Amino acid sequence: MATSRTILHVDMDAFFTSVEQRDRPELRGKPVVVGAPPDKRGVVAAASYEARKFGVHSAMPSRTAYRLCPQAVFLRGDHAKYSRESERVMMILRQFTPLVEQVSVDEAYLEATASLQLFGTGEQIAREIKRRIRETTGLTASVGVAPNKFLAKLASDMRKPDGLMVIRDEDKLDVLRPLPIGRVAGIGKKTEPMFHDLGIHTIGDLQRFPVETLRARFGVWADEIKARALGEDDRLVEPYSETKSISNETTFEKDVSNMDALERAVRELAGEVGRRLRAEGVRSRTVQLKLRWGDFTTLTRRATLPEATDDEGRIAEVAMQLLRHELSEPRPVRLIGVGGQNLLRSPRQLDLLDRGSNRRDDLNRAADAVRARFGAKKLRRGGELQETA
Ligand SMILES: [Mg+2]
Repeated sequence: MATSRTILHVDMDAFFTSVEQRDRPELRGKPVVVGAPPDKRGVVAAASYEARKFGVHSAMPSRTAYRLCPQAVFLRGDHAKYSRESERVMMILRQFTPLVEQVSVDEAYLEATASLQLFGTGEQIAREIKRRIRETTGLTASVGVAPNKFLAKLASDMRKPDGLMVIRDEDKLDVLRPLPIGRVAGIGKKTEPMFHDLGIHTIGDLQRFPVETLRARFGVWADEIKARALGEDDRLVEPYSETKSISNETTFEKDVSNMDALERAVRELAGEVGRRLRAEGVRSRTVQLKLRWGDFTTLTRRATLPEATDDEGRIAEVAMQLLRHELSEPRPVRLIGVGGQNLLRSPRQLDLLDRGSNRRDDLNRAADAVRARFGAKKLRRGGELQETA
């Protein structure tokens, strides 16, 4: 049997709004929302705990947030400042192990197994991390300690805010048993009813359920779901793949159903995705299209390519195929997004040795170099020319 691991999941509490409340004492104890202004289109990026009491949460349209909590203070937010704070937090985490996987601006996993000898138990490390974060940034974090990533994330969420929760291997089945199945990563609002149909409501129900029947219904996904229900997760903490996906989206001032206008938006967004992929030195194997309709329902569609790409033309082409498939008849679109996932390191050296063999690559890179020198607006590819007016 493999030796038991100690994984920590560190999650800052209401990060953006906590930074604002720290720096502006007059906002403390008040509902604060960071995101789009309430009279504009766009969504809530973060809500303080005071605002959450009114039902406000992130990803909700700001207008809805305003309806629920008109007394909230709405702020655009200072994302450069949040990045700086995030970097201070990540530096504290790296004092305990180099194996830190940053999942988002305010969240990370630590592989702490090898750190135990130096720093004590997982719980002691968690306590010390919380102390240093508070001392250095004046902010609170919630930390989960567990034998794997799934349980560590679950644990950090259980005692929020300013929480510390340990799930030991011998307790995991008992801890999981009463929880609703929605707590299993991957089971969301859409898939939950499919489990309810099978009489599965709690993770305990899932623990007892025969995996063969799950396979018949959910295919290869069944084994992963069953493993999670049993508290098993062998995913590694991956410190180097910091970038998991690159995406870009835009909310229209007015809903758009005109296909030409949507295609222009897709090309523009794909262009930005391509530039960022190349800047990061990665290529994407999966192209994602995100659509939010006029009625706020949101969907994402993905297509996986036979070969990874950082070419915006190719990304746009695939995103357009996905869009045409969803828009067989016109329907008002509120938000559209294009992304690249499943990122692989680009074989840059090979490209250099192989000059001229791929003109489009060279063209993209030359364009990036010009943009870097003269700014994005100076250079537009043919397909984007209509935007320059
Ligand atoms: Mg958080």
